[in-house]
Amino acid sequence: MAQRELRRTIESVPTSDGAGVKLRRSLGSVRGLYLDPFLMLDEFSSDDAADYIAGFPSHPHRGFETVTYMLDGHMRHEDHLGHRGELTAGGVQWMTAGRGIIHSEMPQQDRGRMRGFQLWINLPRQEKMKPPKYRDIAPRDIPVIDVPGGGHVKVIAGTITVDGRDVAGPIQRLTTDPTYLDVELAPGAAFRHSLPRDYTAFVYAFEGSVAIGADGHAEVLADHRAGVTSEGEDVLLRGGDHGGRALLIAGRPLREPVVQYGPFVMTTREEVEQAVRDYRNGTLTDAHAEELR
Ligand code: MN
Repeated sequence: MAQRELRRTIESVPTSDGAGVKLRRSLGSVRGLYLDPFLMLDEFSSDDAADYIAGFPSHPHRGFETVTYMLDGHMRHEDHLGHRGELTAGGVQWMTAGRGIIHSEMPQQDRGRMRGFQLWINLPRQEKMKPPKYRDIAPRDIPVIDVPGGGHVKVIAGTITVDGRDVAGPIQRLTTDPTYLDVELAPGAAFRHSLPRDYTAFVYAFEGSVAIGADGHAEVLADHRAGVTSEGEDVLLRGGDHGGRALLIAGRPLREPVVQYGPFVMTTREEVEQAVRDYRNGTLTDAHAEELR
């Protein structure tokens, strides 16, 4: 059984986005470098409202999915169709932008801790123009499974097997077949996850450290960086000297061209130019097209 090994690390780079929200970007920090099907991973974490209060006012997306996982704090999501969602601690919003949404993501607090992640996942060519869709996932709908030796795993997407029992997360059977796990491990505690051999997988440590790989060959991944694994059947994670907490994210590569211009991710330059034109003309989304008729 081939264990995946830590192939390389991607440091997170302090940056800001939206109207000035401070965050750390790992995937997506280098232009043109994608971990197919994953496009970007941002971590936001601050106790200082000045770092997040400006939020993400109205902006568009087309051609991919955004997954927001809140650890602490409260954001409100509103889009051009009148959809409103509350993002609270432990919850997830899985948004399929499809052919287009225009939305805002704004903090609903002016003090205290705001902490979480936003992951961008590409859509296959034939799904890029499908209607937008939201899945708002409450904390109670995310299974939490204890790990022998100390710790637990939250299953947001995909299915894990613990003690011979399969535990399925709320997100299943997308074309990219994503796994999205929040893995917290006591020092030395181990968690193993099996994947198809050719799937892309990476680990993002955000508290303490975790070791990746077979015992005797494991390499330690420190916090605030992404560790990309080799191909193989199994990912073995072990809590570092002081324990560790990490996201384990994996998916089926799409192996299609990626042409990105900011919040538009398509497969050809012409499709991106069309998206920019549609946004300028107010026809990015169906609702806007109807208003113009
Ligand atoms: Mn957005």
